[in-house]
This record gives sequence, structure tokens and C-alpha cells, in this order.
Amino acid sequence: MATKTFGISPRGAVHRWTQTLIPTTREAPADAESPSHVFLSRAGFIRKLGAGIYDFLPLGYRVLKKVSQIVREEMDGAGAMELHLPVMLPIELYNETKRHVAYGDLLFKVTDRKGAVCALGPTHEEPITEMVKGSINSYKQLPINLYQIQTKFRDEARPRSGLLRGREFLMKDAYSFHTAVEGPGGLNETYDKMHAAYTNVFRRCGLDFTVVEAESGPIGGSASHEFMVNAASGEDTILKCPASGYAANVEKCEIGPRPAPAKGYFAGEPSGALEEVHTPGCPGIEDVVKFLKVKPQHMLKSVLFKVQSTPEDLAKYGEEFILAVVRGDHDVNEGKVRDAAGVSGVELADVKEAAAKGFAVGFISPRAALGKKGVLVVVDRDAAIGFDDAAGKPKFWVTGGDKIDYHVKHFNWQRDLGKDPLAAAAHKPETHGTGGLRGGDDYLMVADVRNALAGDPSPRSAGAKLETGRGIEVGHIFKLGTKYSDAMGLSVLGADQQKKSVIMGCYGIGVSRTVAAAVEQNHDENGIVWPVAIAPYHVLITLMRADSADHAALADKIAGELAARGVDVLIDDRDERPGPKFKDADLIGVPIRLTIGEKALAAGAVEFKTRRATDKGSLVPTGEIVEWCVQKIGDAMG
Ligand code: ATP
Ligand code: MG
Repeated sequence: MATKTFGISPRGAVHRWTQTLIPTTREAPADAESPSHVFLSRAGFIRKLGAGIYDFLPLGYRVLKKVSQIVREEMDGAGAMELHLPVMLPIELYNETKRHVAYGDLLFKVTDRKGAVCALGPTHEEPITEMVKGSINSYKQLPINLYQIQTKFRDEARPRSGLLRGREFLMKDAYSFHTAVEGPGGLNETYDKMHAAYTNVFRRCGLDFTVVEAESGPIGGSASHEFMVNAASGEDTILKCPASGYAANVEKCEIGPRPAPAKGYFAGEPSGALEEVHTPGCPGIEDVVKFLKVKPQHMLKSVLFKVQSTPEDLAKYGEEFILAVVRGDHDVNEGKVRDAAGVSGVELADVKEAAAKGFAVGFISPRAALGKKGVLVVVDRDAAIGFDDAAGKPKFWVTGGDKIDYHVKHFNWQRDLGKDPLAAAAHKPETHGTGGLRGGDDYLMVADVRNALAGDPSPRSAGAKLETGRGIEVGHIFKLGTKYSDAMGLSVLGADQQKKSVIMGCYGIGVSRTVAAAVEQNHDENGIVWPVAIAPYHVLITLMRADSADHAALADKIAGELAARGVDVLIDDRDERPGPKFKDADLIGVPIRLTIGEKALAAGAVEFKTRRATDKGSLVPTGEIVEWCVQKIGDAMG
């Protein structure tokens, strides 16, 4: 009979508390705020060595290995081959992709004795592209999917929450190589396989997660998905449509059709005469709102972006800017601004650059774009309102005064930007002497350029409203296209003897982050409640009397039989009072607890309890306990 493997190897481990290292503590480290940081530290799984740098102690390492093993099995199952690339990457590797520049301070660098610089890999697109380039030359050698489980380095600006955002962390990264996007052997086929494998990984880890559409970059469409562990403490905002199942990262989430104003965009009389007000020391919306005693939904927030131009476009059109305008209580969405403008990338304009162009950052109004060449104004639908339909009166707007420390009240689109700022495209450059982007005519447009919010119309199901949740990004799959192969010259000869750029996909899992995310999702006030599949041990046997040879012998016997069935067992053989032992048991979160004590033994039984259960536990005859545990573990792991 084949034994089911529950853990790392077919035979389970039997370890003793007194022989391993589990330095539990009552106090959390001073900088620990998130539950995973607090409990993993207090339970002796990890220990901080420096900012964003952690030791994995024996318990922590067991969990890390279990997650890694699940990842490895699923990658192998999806047809990916494991390899191992160096951490130290000669900086010249980035000559073509220029990512050492794009990464900026995130990239760790070391200098050797001869002065040569190496980057410590933050991810491995460049070295793998280089390796594959040197290893294949024909379409016949593709497709191929390669992965590694490897330490990564990123000098995060704010390393935090323990393993959730470290500077040294464990990642599984995979890269696939193809000659086509569609069809057998194409990128889409592998992408779908990896999508399924990722789903298996996080399901097998026992986690509750959401797969969301994410910013897709060069290929467009649904070319990128993130796997988010649902947790209130998550950094990322997820939006879901309950009717269609659509889910997206806030960076990507579309908003369904919003009702247009009855009179049309921008149309409506002013709410009053334009009034300039001195607002000293109020650079942010929150400050102005307090100072002027107005509601944020009556503010217009104008954010200036610079277009990331190619050298050719720069020569042709000069520097170009986009002024994105949203309501004060909304957030500008950079990706939507980029897409609305039809450019390949935007970045926040810096204050100096903006000033040189005549924009007072923090106090910009849409009027600031008047008379300027190469500026496109993109106004969100909720901000492009002249008449307030709900209130039945002209819309009252407060916006920047276009000079430091000033705002204006009663801004009106038509009066202050021209009679008919829309008929969008009808607004010719002559009208205000502005030309929009790329020398085009439009300088003002209405679009969806804000982050979606709970209650917004679903983009996939009429009448449904978006709901929000928080998540922790544990995986990310991405159709790269030919970005790296073009930059680094990775091509193969096709069947027609023509050179073809290789098409790539990349697939990451934050292995160490997954450990922490599991705790964020599975804990109570007393400690960790591990999902069975990734618990450091499946079973904890607590000896009420460590000095009893009989008790110890029984514990050994049960543990040995469990191990033979693939179950990992920790025996708490410490000569301690039961109170602290049970406290520690709660803290380290082993799913099944067996207690060997006089009372139960007198009845020929041991006490069985699960970490999740709130009841007292039950007595199970000693002869049945092994089968009982194996059954429970099997059930829990599906
Ligand atoms: P984030 O947006 O959280 O900074 P990212 O999108 O930059 O992450 P990727 O480049 O997609 O991360 O890396 C793949 C995976 O590696 C992520 O999905 C995440 O699980 C993990 N990861 C990224 N940065 C860290 C970090 N600093 N600490 C731990 N895990 C990380
Ligand atoms: Mg990512």
C-alpha cells in the first residue's frame, strides 16, 4: 500500500523540544506590528538580524521547506525544469535592458577587489535570458520553462512586517520561452498551465486567496495575474464583482459605465464668482479641506505627469506632460492615465520640472494647462462636472490657485477653461494656443482615470457593484512578450530559417512571503494556527510528566508509528509545568495536539485536541490514536 506523503519526505520527522531550538518569548520585538511578524518572532520561527534580514530557526525553516516543496512539485507538474542561477550578477548584464537604472536604489551592489561591480539579483530575467541565448539557436529547442527557488535581494525603501517585505527573501522564479503566443507550445498555453499550477500551490498550502487581474504592461489584455492571500492586514486593495467573478488589483481595476451628467460633461453655470483664497501651509487636500471647511468631493485634485518618451519621440514632440484631474476624495490611477493618453509610460513630474513648465505642484488647477504646448488634460468623469444633478444646482468646485499657498473657490469648467471645453475633440489648439500630445488637436479629454472604489459599477456585469477587500501578493504571473529577448538579442531560427525573437513569460512566487501571509490569515490572539500542509509538524505530543519513563515510552511509540505514516511529530519533553507548555503550544500553532497524562492513561487513552478547536478535547484509546490522527490530517489536506 502506498503511503500518502504529508510532509517533506515519505517518512515523517520525530523531534524533541529539548533537542531543537524553539526560543519562544512573551514579548514581541519592538518594531513588530503585523501579526505574522509578532507571532513568527515570539514563537521562535524567525529572528531579525538587520533591517529586512531574518534568520530562519528550525521551526521557521521547516515551514519554508514545506512551502518550497509544494511549489517545486507543482512546477515540476507543470513541466518546468529546476535550475540554479547565481545571486551575484555582473552589472554589465544590465547594459542592454538598463534595468540597473530603472531599479534605482532597490538594487543591491557589491564591488570586488578589482573594482568590478555585481548586482545581487532582485529577480533573474537578465541572467536567464543570457543563459538561454547562449544555449539554444533553433525553434526546435522551444518551448522551455525553467525555474529556481533562490534568495533575492532588494533594498526596499521600507522593509517591514518581517518576512512580508524583506530585503533578503526567498522567491520561486520561472521563465518560459516560446516562438509563438498562440497554439501548442505557445506562451498562452504555458501561461495557463502556470496559472493552474499557482492555483494548486496556494490551495495545497491551505490558503484562502483571490486571483486578480494586474497591470499587464507590453502585451495588454489579461496578460498578468496576481495571486493574493486574502487578509485584512494586506497591503494591496482588491476589487471584486460579486456577479461576474471579475477581480482586479486596484492598479488595474476598470470601472463600469458611470452615468453621464444630464447637461453633458463640463456644462453648467458657475456656482459663484471665482474667489482666490490664501491657504498658507496647506499643500495637501486634507489640509485645505480643513482650512476652508469644504468637503473633499468639492475639490479638484490635479496631478502632473511627465510622459516617458523614446529619444525619437522626444526629438519629434519635445517634452510632454499630462495633467490628470480627479475629485479630491479620489485617487489618480497612473496606468489609466497612461492608457487614456495612449502613451507607453508616465511618471510623476518632479516639482522643479513642473515649476519650469509653469505648474505650482500642490496648487495646480486645470487652468494651468491653458496656453501650454505639449500638455494633455485628462479629467476623470466625476470631476468633469459643471452641474450637480443630485443637488439640482451648479457644482461648487475648489481647486488650486496656480501659485504657492493659494486656492480658488467657485471654479467652473466652461467659464474658466473656455466656452465649450468639450465636444472634447472639437477643442482645437487654436482656441487656447495649446496642442495636446504628439502634436495632436485635443488638449482636454474625459476618461476613467481614478482608482475604483467599493460601490462603483462593475465593468463586467450591469447593475452589479464592486466590493473591496485586502490582500497580500504572494504570486505574480506575467506575459513579458519580447521585451527582454529584443533588448538582449535572444532569437532562434524558425522553420523558415528566419530569425525570430523569442517570446517570454515570467512567473514569481514569494516563498518566504507566503509563510508570513499564511500567518496573517491564520492566527488568533494566542498564536499561529497553521494550515496542516505547511505546519512545521502535524502533531505535537505534550508530556504532562516529562520525568515518567512510561509516558516517554508511549510518546515515542506513537510518534514512531505516526512517522512511519508520513506524519511529522514534535514531542514536548521539557520538564516544565503544563501551563507554559500549553501556552507555547498555542503560540507555535501545530494543528494536532496529543497530551499524555496520568488521567487519560488510566483510561487507556490520550487526549486529542486540534489547535483550532475551542472545546476541551477528547479521549482517544491509545491503540486507535495513530489511525485517528492520520485520518484527521488526510481530511484536512484534502
Ligand atoms: P511588491 O509589489 O509587493 O513590491 P513586486 O510586484 O515588486 O512585489 P515581483 O517582482 O512581482 O514583486 O516578485 C515576485 C514575488 O516576490 C511577489 O509576488 C512577492 O510575493 C515576492 N516579493 C517581492 N518583493 C518582496 C519582498 N521585498 N519581500 C518578500 N517577498 C517579496
Ligand atoms: Mg508583482
